Amino acid sequence: MLDIPSIAKVELHRHLEGSLRLATVREIVDQLQLPEAALSLAQLAARAQVLEPMESLDAVLGAFDVFQRCFASLELVERLAFEAVQDAGRDHVRLLELRFSPDFMTRTANLAWDEAMAALLRGVRRAEAECDVAVGLIAIASRGYGLQSALQTADFAVRWRRELVGFDLADNEVRYASAEFAPAVARVRAVGLPLTVHSGESTGPEHVLDTLDALAPQRIGHGVAVGRDADLAERMRRERVTIEACPTSNVRTCAVPSFAEHPARRLLRAGVPLALCSDDPGLFAITLSDELAVARRELGFTDSDLARATLNALAASFLPAAQVKALQKRHFGWAEALAR
Ligand SMILES: [Zn+2]
Repeated sequence: MLDIPSIAKVELHRHLEGSLRLATVREIVDQLQLPEAALSLAQLAARAQVLEPMESLDAVLGAFDVFQRCFASLELVERLAFEAVQDAGRDHVRLLELRFSPDFMTRTANLAWDEAMAALLRGVRRAEAECDVAVGLIAIASRGYGLQSALQTADFAVRWRRELVGFDLADNEVRYASAEFAPAVARVRAVGLPLTVHSGESTGPEHVLDTLDALAPQRIGHGVAVGRDADLAERMRRERVTIEACPTSNVRTCAVPSFAEHPARRLLRAGVPLALCSDDPGLFAITLSDELAVARRELGFTDSDLARATLNALAASFLPAAQVKALQKRHFGWAEALAR
């Protein structure tokens, strides 16, 4: 049986703003004398982490508030980015796609987006070299901030296109339909940046369908709803649209009632390209290894399913193809051997 912690892994869906270490959050809230400084470590954990299923996705987004306020200076942006990559490296993630929302990240401290990006890059590049992780960065437009912010984020992505590998649309798709953001997506598509969209997380298949029709993304974040519509699953399979499945996140945000009802294994075995991802390791207090272990223990993945999901992640990575090929050759012989 595979020793999950020690095998090389690929992460396609991880938010920088959801990757903060609790110990670092403690240090920052104390240093900055934020209101949470008065809390004990256990109280802070209860406030900043989601360890049990919560009532709604909005409640989880609310827990992000503490993390958001930790991005209080350029130095902290650099440090938090460094630590996020370092944690991935320690978990033997060898290809990491790390996403962040410039608007969300800079909002409380009113940091300039380009300066924050430069600081983030310093942290990422330093950790990449030290920790043997290849990192691709994805800029996120948060639907909740409206189209203006999304357009600004698209322009940011165009400016930084050489340092980014993709673009993402996140946040509540019931209140803010995918189609509304087509003008922002058109701008990044024009410079060749690929697209992933949070869709079908705690919503129905019709939202994923709308997303595919309106934005034609290469990947769908979560896509739990695809499990409830065979025609949609078949379309995803045929069009090679990859699902970034995040089982623990989906259970904790109540996007699925239980692990047993998570559709990941069924979709994977039906030939839908599906990768396993962690979403927010800091928020959920998990690693990507934990997600693979959950897939095996709770979702019934065999080692060969884990290998298949890993090869799917490599195939759907937004990093340059030659770089992915080299990484695959160097680190992922285990997956090729098992998937045969
Ligand atoms: Zn996400």
